[in-house]
Amino acid sequence: MAMKREILQILRDSDGGYVSGQELCNKFGVSRTAVWKAIGQLKDAGYEIEAVQNRGYRLMGAPDVIDAAEIYSLLKTEWAGCEIDYHESVESTNTRAKELAEDGRPEGTLVVSNQQTAGRGRRGRGWESPAGDGIFMTLLIKPNINPNNASMITLVAALAVARAISEVTGEQAQIKWPNDIVINGKKICGILTEMSAQFDYISHIVIGIGINVHNAGFPEELSEMASSLFIECKKHFHRADIIVSTLKYFEKYYANFLETEDLSGLMEDYNEILVNRGNGVKVLDEREPFEGKAMGITKRGELIVDTWESRRLVSSGEVSVRGIYGYV
Ligand code: ATP
Repeated sequence: MAMKREILQILRDSDGGYVSGQELCNKFGVSRTAVWKAIGQLKDAGYEIEAVQNRGYRLMGAPDVIDAAEIYSLLKTEWAGCEIDYHESVESTNTRAKELAEDGRPEGTLVVSNQQTAGRGRRGRGWESPAGDGIFMTLLIKPNINPNNASMITLVAALAVARAISEVTGEQAQIKWPNDIVINGKKICGILTEMSAQFDYISHIVIGIGINVHNAGFPEELSEMASSLFIECKKHFHRADIIVSTLKYFEKYYANFLETEDLSGLMEDYNEILVNRGNGVKVLDEREPFEGKAMGITKRGELIVDTWESRRLVSSGEVSVRGIYGYV
């Protein structure tokens, strides 16, 4: 397993060039047959590898898998994804990540699954997670910050996912405050951040990210607001590319957040792709719903909403925001 993973990495790092069989034998201290077997395992897993006599092996194509070997071979982060816990199917990647946190696994541990059987959204709602269609992943972090500032991390993650989706697809991804990613006004991604903390100390935070990638359709009750990258861009993207790009941007933005423990260094970027900005919104506060015009976020991640009488700051957490006529 380890050799298969490393050979994949070496083939990737050679940027489409040939890697000689002898070089691989020397590196791993094994026979030609052993290398040939490992190459066979990669081929069985769906990798297209060309073998040319006297030149060696060359990677021609990769399957759309999101297991540890595939992600590691593409990853260029310092700590995010340092350990990868992959599943074909799991109840919820957040639940699994919390178990790993209790086991003492390090910051940067990433749980990834090809399917969730009980994917969760905020306030006990579900997250539709069919096998092979989406990205279901959870990053474990252990920030040494005031727990009162932790809710802003959801916005940091939203910015990272939006940037990653834009980078990989070339399509403008936007944010519906605080943490849904939309394209053409439809929800492509949801983020569920959960924290385990004392009142002055954070033990850990899990950031769950669900992205609809290949879905060709959605159950009736979601079809008005949900969509996928395939539906919006008419193309199938490589899921691992989106994962590694998300981790790359998350590392960058999270470092920026930690410097000030607020969004002062990120709010401008966030506001630029805030889909609600300048639009009428309904704030679905359980006690007191109201309408107004969304103006952007503050450095604490609150949504600034101008009503006809006053300017109000809405904290994320317990409210949902909708457009006046629809989802955004
Ligand atoms: P909202 O502001 O949309 O109410 P939220 O942030 O409170 O969202 P989330 O926790 O992000 O909600 O997502 C849960 C909701 O998203 C579900 O109640 C359902 O309506 C919708 N949903 C479930 N699965 C998917 C999916 N795969 N893609 C898009 N939307 C989904």
